[in-house]
Amino acid sequence: MENRLTQAFDTNTFREEGHQLIDLLADYLQQAESAKDLKVIDWQEPQATYEYWKNYQFTSSSQFFSDVIAGSNHLHHPHYVGHQVSPSIPSSALSALVASLLKNGSGVYEMAPVGAIAERLVAEEFAKYIGYGPASDGLLTSGGTLANLTALLTARQEKGSGDVWNDGLGANQDLAVMVSGEAHYCIDRAVRIMGLGADGLIKVPVGADFKAQPEALKATYQKAVEAGRRVFAIVGSACSTATGAHDDLVAMGEFARQKGLWFHVDAAHGGAALFSQKYRHLLHGIADSDSVVIDSHKMLMTAGLATALVYREGKHSYRTFQMKAQYLFEASQDRDWYNMAKRTFECTKFMTALNTLMVFKQYGAAVIGEYVNHTYDTARAFHQILHQHPVFQTIHPAEANILCFRYFDPTLSEAALTEINKSIRDRIVQSGDFYLVQTTIQEVFYLRVCIMNPKTQLSHLQSLLTTILQFATPQRKA
Ligand SMILES: *Cc1c(COP(=O)(O)O)cnc(C)c1O
Repeated sequence: MENRLTQAFDTNTFREEGHQLIDLLADYLQQAESAKDLKVIDWQEPQATYEYWKNYQFTSSSQFFSDVIAGSNHLHHPHYVGHQVSPSIPSSALSALVASLLKNGSGVYEMAPVGAIAERLVAEEFAKYIGYGPASDGLLTSGGTLANLTALLTARQEKGSGDVWNDGLGANQDLAVMVSGEAHYCIDRAVRIMGLGADGLIKVPVGADFKAQPEALKATYQKAVEAGRRVFAIVGSACSTATGAHDDLVAMGEFARQKGLWFHVDAAHGGAALFSQKYRHLLHGIADSDSVVIDSHKMLMTAGLATALVYREGKHSYRTFQMKAQYLFEASQDRDWYNMAKRTFECTKFMTALNTLMVFKQYGAAVIGEYVNHTYDTARAFHQILHQHPVFQTIHPAEANILCFRYFDPTLSEAALTEINKSIRDRIVQSGDFYLVQTTIQEVFYLRVCIMNPKTQLSHLQSLLTTILQFATPQRKA
């Protein structure tokens, strides 16, 4: 082999670099978790980061990794209260390293014996907690967005008219999906990708609690029918992304049965609560759904991207991408359940099921329950504080670990309130003191906190409020 290539595959170098890397990461985790001498983010403008990495001179792998860490957002820092991605359980990151090195494409059993079977095992574990019976089966996709699209494609094959997958839309452009007005935008995208257009998404109005109103289901459906739409599926959010509100899955399931619809539950975020005795009631009714999506990278604390799509009746999953000829051929045979690529979008797919399987095998479902309890409990306690505080306004109770609120001064106009809250958010992120996000709900701007880090305590959130109040005062000259 040529010199560079020999170097690149030198295992002694790997051994040395690997040992250095683990030391570097362990030191980093200690520093991040203690929140000492480390900001949650070292904010740089995008152009500056671009210039830095464009001109970066590589000296050693440990320097490279250390510079990557320094420039990144620190999810293991207790002041990370931003997007719904949990810090990885460190051993799950080790599993991700193994998965990356082995690089077995888990769509095909013989390409990834462990990876393919791990998918099945992970899906089975979820199915058990969802309450599905033995006919259940599932698979993993790269993210909830793709899993929701896949579920809706299955739903259309099962409950829509005709065979759109093989014949095209034809006269079936009038198909539609009903969903909460607060659903994640990926459902809207999925419906458009399916060729149903913007009007293919029928939004059920939400009440003051940000849940799809059960009493509005019938009228919404009726209105869609009158507008010439044929609804084939209804999607429940468990929970909604913006506020963490859980739709009434019992009412939705009943409605789906009455109308012969596919009932899909988007539990990308909140599905983890199934593992908590204390909070699993939030998902009451989920066992009567046809399919469920749960993200591992959000509330299961796994490294890498992995989303389970679980079907109440596994046989439905074979219809999603099935060609006509194949159908006839396979009807007479046992399905090869171990070749997942038949049922998923992806061709090559990382064996990320391993990271989820690792968490289940090493710590058991109990670790997820503890995590849910801590983060949901903390959000409730934080809500209490905000609710009683004279200068903060909350708009919803904490059902999950998500909370929207804003700095509030009744003497200010709405425009001024938006401006001050925007400036608070920007200045906090730029200071690196905390990482929180923002959202607009019914045209009002809010600060949004997701308690994703098991090390985030109420005391950290108290100091977030102190920081907000500091930044709420007019900008002082340094
Ligand atoms: C995050 C989220 C999604 C999207 O999942 P990704 O894994 O980010 O693609 C879908 N639905 C809900 C309710 C979510 O919270």
